[in-house]
Amino acid sequence: MYEVNHWINGATLDGTSGRTSDIYNPSTGEVQGQVNLATKDELDAAVEKAAAAQVAWGATNPQRRARVMMKFAELINRDMDKLAETLSREHGKTLPDARGDVQRGLEVIEVCMGAPHMLKGEYINSGGPGIDLYSMRQPLGVVAGITPFNFPAMIPLWKMGPALASGNAMILKPSERCPSTAMQLAELIQEAGLPDGVLQVVNGDKDVVDAILDNDTVQAVGFVGSTPIAQYIYGRAATNGKRAQCFGGAKNHMIIMPDADLEKAADALVGAGFGAAGERCMAISVAVPVGKDTADKLIEKLAPRVEALKVGPYTSETDVDYGPVITEAAKERIEGLISTGVDQGATLVTDGRGFSLQGYEDGFYVGPTLFDDVTEDMDIYKEEIFGPVLSTVRKDSYEDALSLVMENQYGNGTAIYTSDGDTARDFASRVNVGMVGINFPIPVPLSYFTFGGWKKSAFGDLNQYGPDAFRFYTQTKTVTERWFSGIKEGGEFAFKAMD
Ligand code: NAD
Repeated sequence: MYEVNHWINGATLDGTSGRTSDIYNPSTGEVQGQVNLATKDELDAAVEKAAAAQVAWGATNPQRRARVMMKFAELINRDMDKLAETLSREHGKTLPDARGDVQRGLEVIEVCMGAPHMLKGEYINSGGPGIDLYSMRQPLGVVAGITPFNFPAMIPLWKMGPALASGNAMILKPSERCPSTAMQLAELIQEAGLPDGVLQVVNGDKDVVDAILDNDTVQAVGFVGSTPIAQYIYGRAATNGKRAQCFGGAKNHMIIMPDADLEKAADALVGAGFGAAGERCMAISVAVPVGKDTADKLIEKLAPRVEALKVGPYTSETDVDYGPVITEAAKERIEGLISTGVDQGATLVTDGRGFSLQGYEDGFYVGPTLFDDVTEDMDIYKEEIFGPVLSTVRKDSYEDALSLVMENQYGNGTAIYTSDGDTARDFASRVNVGMVGINFPIPVPLSYFTFGGWKKSAFGDLNQYGPDAFRFYTQTKTVTERWFSGIKEGGEFAFKAMD
């Protein structure tokens, strides 16, 4: 049993609230640790120290800040296996998948080495006689990152990198289910040279989130999690005058056209639907084959692939496709939704309920589940299941398939499999979803683009990482200046006339 506390002023600080939350090992079902849940007073104290530390950090030459990012990236690489082990032990994803989690976060830190370029302003020297205009990007001060359980390294890194490289101090509030990876990352960035207090990791639950939202010193909130909480946080942060970007849940569809390579489409669906036990906001959870023939052939190819998936503990390096889901409650909820799908008339091709793994009988495992004949009115279509369940919704035409995607409340990611460029191009330009894959099942943009959904998958402006993140974590100041010695005879008159 271990205890997770807070990371304050460059060291761990014991929690004082007396409130804790259990940390499970989802692979075995055992409670392995406890995390201390911070109070409002503890949060306010962390913010005060962060504000003090931010002054010097914000005034530090951006190139020096970028060097901290460079060293941080080196240390993440050094400790990759250690980070992956910590992450998987609390999350349950397989070790290769966990290394991918760290890697995708690391790539954002690599882009943050270019922070000086991202932070440059604009300049014009011909605003009028002797008049220059220039703009600068300045840090906001203290900002907060509130992150979900499903990417314990990647999403904290998406938040930390751009916020800190822009000269802010950050309060990071990781998921209470998987808090240890963020603590390890805090230690590494301190080793990389980040001054004490610039990153404070405050662990907790709703109480500490509300304290962040109500703290007047916190200028911006970057949230990632489920849609109801994203909407709640966006509303409360905005009411309190903060900048907020809150990314929520998803229901990602993949359209399979009659001219698609069905072997490749089936392989892609299995990877994108069941990888990480479907606990990815970019997982494909709905397959939309167009035409009866396509649908029949697709199910024929999918069924044996899904049945052959191997479920096991996170420790398996090679022979396991995915691990357990995060909690017993998540397992029960997913199995309940599968039962509802059957009751509401969907065809259950592969049933993952009641799955038990020898030697790990108490682990939170759900077997791979494939549904056919799912319709829009069923709960398994309407709800984000966030588990290893793939639903097939058959459509007769491309237009019907496109309308299905367009009318869904979520708009995080989507994909189309086709060999026709015109259809692919039409889909990319018309679909109302933030990230689109063409013969690409999980179109998470590379770290120098930006990541963000549409509709109920995101609230607020600007995306995560890439240039948008530097805009989110800075404010623009524009200076109009005039130096009279630069005004030639007649110039001032010309300028006045211009006024
Ligand atoms: P969650 O919403 O339960 O929790 C996210 C964070 O909010 C955690 O830090 C948690 O402590 C906090 N929180 C939970 N309940 C709260 C409340 N009532 N008030 C204030 N704060 C609260 O999400 P989760 O289960 O950790 O993560 C899974 C969800 O995240 C899925 O819906 C998934 O689609 C989504 N997600 C979205 C993206 C994206 O970029 N759009 C990325 C990853 C995950």
